[in-house]
Amino acid sequence: MNTNRKNLIVGAGVSGAAIANLIAEKLNEQVVIIDKKSHLAGNSHDFRDENGIMIHKYGSHIFHTNSEKVWNFVKKFSDFNQYMHKVYALIDGIETTIPFNFNTLYNVFPQKLAEKIEEKLLQKFEYNSKVPILKFLKQDDKDLKFLADYVYEKIFLHYTTKQWGLQPDKIDSAVTARVPVYLSKDNRYFQDKYQGIPLNGYTKLVENMLNLPNIEVRLNTDYKEVNEKFDRIFYTGSIDEFFDYKFGMLPYRSVNFKFETHEKNFYQQNSVINYPCNYDFTRIHEFKHYLNDKSEKTVIAKEYSEDFELAKNERYYPILNAENLALYNKYLEEAKKLNNVYFLGRLGDYKYYDMDKAILRAIELFEEVCL
Ligand code: UDP
Repeated sequence: MNTNRKNLIVGAGVSGAAIANLIAEKLNEQVVIIDKKSHLAGNSHDFRDENGIMIHKYGSHIFHTNSEKVWNFVKKFSDFNQYMHKVYALIDGIETTIPFNFNTLYNVFPQKLAEKIEEKLLQKFEYNSKVPILKFLKQDDKDLKFLADYVYEKIFLHYTTKQWGLQPDKIDSAVTARVPVYLSKDNRYFQDKYQGIPLNGYTKLVENMLNLPNIEVRLNTDYKEVNEKFDRIFYTGSIDEFFDYKFGMLPYRSVNFKFETHEKNFYQQNSVINYPCNYDFTRIHEFKHYLNDKSEKTVIAKEYSEDFELAKNERYYPILNAENLALYNKYLEEAKKLNNVYFLGRLGDYKYYDMDKAILRAIELFEEVCL
């Protein structure tokens, strides 16, 4: 055990906190973790407001994973409820669940038409299979083509244009494939084995990861302000920023949340309602639903997407297309030339990680570099 080696972790989101914990706990080394923000947990940061409602400051975060390794890891720092996420979307004035599935089919179409389409779907696809919309569009049968065009237009086209400023075929197909057409009656947004919300929030979970005597947390601290020498650096900020944008800036989408407090018990019937065809916002979040918070008031957030601009807003989503990945790869080549500097996280790897994938990457990087 080497207690003298010093590690700097840049960014106290779930990626940074996970690797900080592993290095401090398993190797008993010194860790300094910094964040420019004034709080822990990065974009998964949450807090209880004056009404006792747990607010997800950067939009809804739902933990879900199929990885035993990740689940066993996070469970050490928090208990979770058994919340299973559902998303409603307003389609033709009807609030119905998405991904589009057999229940959605019967909600939006007359019974006879739904029956005819259901039969054709079951002839062509396996029950319980998931089909990405761009693949689903390729139909020969006229009724299935009608359905595919309907789902594309009503769920994907306008939402994706609002969310990314691009049409669905202009972004990495894996992005729209996150919300497939689902040949099932399962209304849940995720089918992962483990799902839930940490009972005391994500910020507390991250705080617990960092609660070790050999971890020092410094908030409101920019990487450029740190002068000490470290043996290893783990960087979860955007990789282009690390290299002073020498090849140009990596594009991201950002999000602007307009919060509202309402003097009623509930604003909407579900935690998230998407508006694929109406309004300028993409979705409305209502936070009370996650931990079943009791209050006579409720807090919602309307989510507006916009381009990321330095010093104006935050990075949320890497924009995955060939041009941006080529730029990222130039930075990655630079990164490989460095000794003892490692990149991870959504911004460090320029990958659209969910929280569990970000944690898995942190665990695997730890095993690769430190063991
Ligand atoms: N999407 C869509 N309509 C919806 C929901 C999602 O077109 O009602 C597309 C959109 O391109 C979005 C992607 O599917 O960016 C992934 O959606 P997800 O809900 O996974 O996004 P996140 O919650 O990570 O923002």
